[in-house]
Amino acid sequence: MENLILVLNAGSSSLKFSLFAVPAAGEMRAVAVGQVEGLGTAPRLKVKDGAGERIADEQWDKSEVSGHAQALQRIAGLLRSRFQGSVLAGVGHRVVHGGPDYAAPLLVTPEAMRRLEDFIPLAPLHQPHNLAAIRAVQEVQPELPQVACFDTAFHQTQERVAQFYGLPYEYFEQGVRRYGFHGLSYEYIAAALPGIAPAVAGGRVVVAHLGSGASMCAMHAGRSVGSSMGFTALDGLLMGTRPGNMDPGIVLYLLQQEGMSAKQIEDLLYKRSGLLGLSGIGNDMRVLLASEEPRARLAIDHFVYRISRELGALAAVLGGLDALVFTAGIGENSARIRQLVCEKARWLGIKIDEAANELAGPRISSAGSGTSAWVVPTNEELMIARHTRKLLAL
Ligand code: ADP
Repeated sequence: MENLILVLNAGSSSLKFSLFAVPAAGEMRAVAVGQVEGLGTAPRLKVKDGAGERIADEQWDKSEVSGHAQALQRIAGLLRSRFQGSVLAGVGHRVVHGGPDYAAPLLVTPEAMRRLEDFIPLAPLHQPHNLAAIRAVQEVQPELPQVACFDTAFHQTQERVAQFYGLPYEYFEQGVRRYGFHGLSYEYIAAALPGIAPAVAGGRVVVAHLGSGASMCAMHAGRSVGSSMGFTALDGLLMGTRPGNMDPGIVLYLLQQEGMSAKQIEDLLYKRSGLLGLSGIGNDMRVLLASEEPRARLAIDHFVYRISRELGALAAVLGGLDALVFTAGIGENSARIRQLVCEKARWLGIKIDEAANELAGPRISSAGSGTSAWVVPTNEELMIARHTRKLLAL
């Protein structure tokens, strides 16, 4: 009987999942990919098979499916009836925060759960939902092994000096430090690079993960040495609805002069800023690129400006640059944004090959380019499935 691994990524009102078939040898393949959106309001399940064909599209009654546990029960029922000849061997979870402790994924135990709960204050918008999904699986199938994979773990290789903020030392000890996020994406890219770009994989690489959340990571020989995100996923680049790096004095201004509450500021920083706030049009890069509005152009220009600034900073951390890699929704799909970023990176020796860029590479820099540029699609779900397979020895 074929083993299956279920990968879960739980948000406040959503539950994304991927089901992987585990062959006796070789890479796993996704056999179902789906998501429940609108938990708590108007829950809706959409599932596709590995080839992208629709398996299910159901609207649920919120009085019957109010949270992750009920959603999971329904998803389990659907997958069980579709994959009757196979056995679910384990579940891998995306857990945003591994705190200062965890530099690698771990098999979930009651003790580990208690420790992961300690990190809720570090990521109050995400961690509780990630842990709720683990508990929901425990309720449905208590014996099923579960693995927690952290967005922070990959960055634990950064040297100590890189992890500080200039606050009194005791804040560092209580956990106020730079962690970095999107680690599962960067780990996937680090694993893929030797096959795609062997000449640079062992060198100094900056990876730009440009999705609705966006960050950059400096890697040396496949290990993280710096990242644009820090204590939370608010730091660094301009994002879809988040401002990225800004003067903390602005928060004081909003509190003291504008009389805003912490909750209102949270809403402003997580949901109303970034591309959406600057453009006044939306957070979808496709819409902004197609718009004639001057503020859409402003938002795009500022997005690119911030990437090029961060690229300079990370190249300085690396002591030079051998390659720049683009990934995630915008990085993989927008030739225009890649072109604008590469134009600003000419000083680093990057010369874009426009035809290759239109075809999304993988190499998008010209043969004579001293520093190369690449497009490498990321796959965080597969990375979680790989960790789960390894820890369960499947
Ligand atoms: P996340 O996983 O963080 O939600 P993704 O990595 O899926 O985000 O990226 C989503 C973003 O990618 C969307 O907001 C959209 O703006 C952008 N995107 C997708 N396709 C394109 C495209 N062809 N051109 C420009 N941007 C795109």
